[in-house]
Parts: sequence; structure tokens; C-alpha cells
Amino acid sequence: MEKREALYSGKAKSVYRTDDPDRFVLLFRDDTSAFDGEKKEQLARKGMVNNRFNAFIMEKLEAAGIPTHFEKVLSPVESLVKKLDMFPVECVVRNYAAGSLCRRLGVEEGQALQPPTFELFLKNDELHDPMINESLAETFGWAGADDLAQMKALTYKVNEVLKKLFDDAGMLLVDYKLEFGRFNGQIVLGDEFSPDGCRIWDKETRKKMDKDRFRQGLGEVIEAYEEVGRRLGIQFD
Ligand code: ADP
Ligand code: UDP
Repeated sequence: MEKREALYSGKAKSVYRTDDPDRFVLLFRDDTSAFDGEKKEQLARKGMVNNRFNAFIMEKLEAAGIPTHFEKVLSPVESLVKKLDMFPVECVVRNYAAGSLCRRLGVEEGQALQPPTFELFLKNDELHDPMINESLAETFGWAGADDLAQMKALTYKVNEVLKKLFDDAGMLLVDYKLEFGRFNGQIVLGDEFSPDGCRIWDKETRKKMDKDRFRQGLGEVIEAYEEVGRRLGIQFD
């Protein structure tokens, strides 16, 4: 496999073409951003930590029967993935109230949510990723009804697998965001699963161990990501 030119550089990762038209290389950078790119910093080791973290989680999900784009780790900060035709939507599941849900509905942070909620957002930085629903997605062609039903079912299946994984390691999976795409007609999980795109709290103390440490200026951001990884049994360099 040969890495070719960069196709796209996002807020945290860069996407490269390869000599295989169906495969991309994802490069996890140390760049960290929040509030639609208003707050930006380089956090040493983040690219490596998230690349390893994502590989570990994607392998767990594959083993549980969830199709993912992940193929293999290529270097400390790079992974080979299937090239997906991405849906411009973000699927968010919440087990506890936090973040935009609290701001939007005035509910208290930490409230357990039963059943866990499912929300859809449009991936559009200029519009600040507005909340949408199935009807809007279908009407505007962002995803079809069948696609959405499958994404929702897969997003909840991920919850069953990961809630237990984190719980067994002394942590609460508070919420997370997933992105899906199409590969040979199949709906496949893409992008990444790392502490950048989910909320994880210590089960006993409810200490925040995710990107909220960066958003809220709590410090020791990557130390917390590595602690989450170590508890799950991930080896970092
Ligand atoms: P953003 O675009 O939100 O700033 P990133 O910096 O994470 O995000 O950039 C990665 C980009 O690559 C995202 O737009 C994501 O949707 C896209 N992507 C992730 N996985 C794949 C894949 N397997 N195939 C094609 N595109 C992907
Ligand atoms: N999230 C993400 N990317 C986004 C928006 C949200 O990874 O563009 C994640 C976020 O880290 C959290 C979950 O999705 O784990 C729910 O985010 P929320 O809607 O509460 O928004 P936020 O508080 O991050 O603005």
C-alpha cells in the first residue's frame, strides 16, 4: 500500500488517497479544536493516543458484528481505512445528560437518561452543525429513510457494546458521536471513536476524562485520555 496525496485536512485528521482506490489513510494530528474551531491548540501525543484508541475500539466493534471502515494501524498516528461515501450527518447517543442537551433543554448535567436518547446533527461547520431530524435528512437528501434506520440501529448497538466495556473498566460512557458512510452498498461506521468525540466520566467520582477537559480548560487533557485507554488495556507508545 502506497500513501498518495492529501485529499482533505479537517480539524483533527487528514485524509490521504492511496494506490488502492477503495482505501484511505487517516492521519491523526495533535490539533485540537472546540466551539466550531474558536478554541484551538496542539496537544502533544494526542494524534498517537487517538489513533491507538480508535483502533482498539473499532476492533471491539467489528468483533461484535458492527461493520467499520477500520483496516489496520500503519504508524503511531496513521490508520488504513475503507474509503466511504460519508453521510453528512452525526449520530449522537446519550446515556447521561451533558453538553448541548443541558443547554438546549435546561436539564441538569449527570441525569441518567432512560431510554438513551438518539439525536441527529447536520455536519456543516458554517451552520454550526445544527440539530436535524429524520424528516429533514430525507427531504434534503442527506440520508434516506432506510439508511437512517440502519444508522440508528447500529448507533444503539455500539452503545450496548461500549457501555459495558467502559463500565467494566470503572467508567461511564456519557454520550458519543458517530459518523457513517456507504461502502459497496453497505452502511459502515467511519471516522473515529476517541475521547475527542465522546464523554467519559469516572464511575465513582464522575471526573471528566474526555474532551470536556479541553473545552472547559480543566487541564491534563491527554493524561486523562491515556488513563481511559490504560483502564481499557490499551498500550500507548
Ligand atoms: P472535520 O471534517 O469534522 O474537521 P476531521 O478533522 O476528523 O473532521 O476530518 C476527517 C474527515 O474525514 C471527516 O470529514 C470525516 O467525515 C471524513 N472521514 C472519516 N472516515 C472516512 C472514511 N472512511 N472515508 C471517507 N471519509 C472519511
Ligand atoms: N460531538 C463531536 N463532534 C461534534 C459535536 C459533538 O464529537 O461536532 C460529540 C461530543 O464530544 C459529545 C457528543 O458528541 O461527546 C454530544 O455533543 P453535544 O451535542 O453535547 O455538543 P457539545 O457540548 O460538544 O457542543
